[in-house]
Amino acid sequence: MSDQNRPLTQTVDGQAVATVADDHSVPTTVSMSIKDLVASYTTISNYLNSRWPLPDGNQRTFARTMKIMEELGELSDEILTSMNLSRDSKIAKFSRENIEDEFADVMACILLLGIELKIDVEAVMRRKIQFTHERYDMDKSQKN
Ligand SMILES: [Mg+2]
Repeated sequence: MSDQNRPLTQTVDGQAVATVADDHSVPTTVSMSIKDLVASYTTISNYLNSRWPLPDGNQRTFARTMKIMEELGELSDEILTSMNLSRDSKIAKFSRENIEDEFADVMACILLLGIELKIDVEAVMRRKIQFTHERYDMDKSQKN
């Protein structure tokens, strides 16, 4: 499949699953729950905290927040490049995988901030999905 046509996500039995590049040595589809993601990134967080120790939680929270901004900038840059709104040299090197990688970096940094803030990611996402359904009266409008 050409890089431009590869979907950002795939589904298995109607469930979204992670996708990876065809040339990676890991399985092409791996179902992963939020709990699995948080567990993986808790391990990474522990490594980062030992590799680059900061004196307290406030400084770790600040650093994690700044990393989100950094990675969001990189994702924005790749999206601009995908729209040919970048330097010719960047456009020439563009790959859809660049957007996927930067999207994953943003997600990873958000998870790392959530771990630092001891946020129950699954619980708050369930709450927000419910809130969004109620705010837009989605359950009622889907029945019509
Ligand atoms: Mg990045």
